[in-house]
Amino acid sequence: MESLLDAVEKCLYCGFCEALCPTIRVGPHRGYGPRGRIALIKYYLDKGSASRELVSSIFSCLLCGSCVRACPALIDVPDLVRRMRSILVADVGFEGIDGEIVAIR
Ligand code: SF4
Ligand code: SF4
Repeated sequence: MESLLDAVEKCLYCGFCEALCPTIRVGPHRGYGPRGRIALIKYYLDKGSASRELVSSIFSCLLCGSCVRACPALIDVPDLVRRMRSILVADVGFEGIDGEIVAIR
């Protein structure tokens, strides 16, 4: 399986995916869209620290897959989000996630 880092590094940061993402419309900033989620995952993989912003962004994704249809790099964002959720649960535990799951504000 392709590593998470290899997958996020395929992102071209073109932003085509953002027009199809339902959560970026209600979130406070672009971290609540597919491109922002990829950037936050990459930052986590580079730095190794989980911010509240990262947890909220990753657990507010609806896994709808709309973004995949627009992506020229064919990135499966819902798959990346699922994998990142597993990493975060192992890293910060359910206590660190509690309260962030529905935290689009
Ligand atoms: S899968 Fe997540 S990032 Fe992609 S469009 Fe749906 S809510 Fe947005
Ligand atoms: S459409 Fe694909 S390559 Fe472009 S920013 Fe979104 S995830 Fe990255």
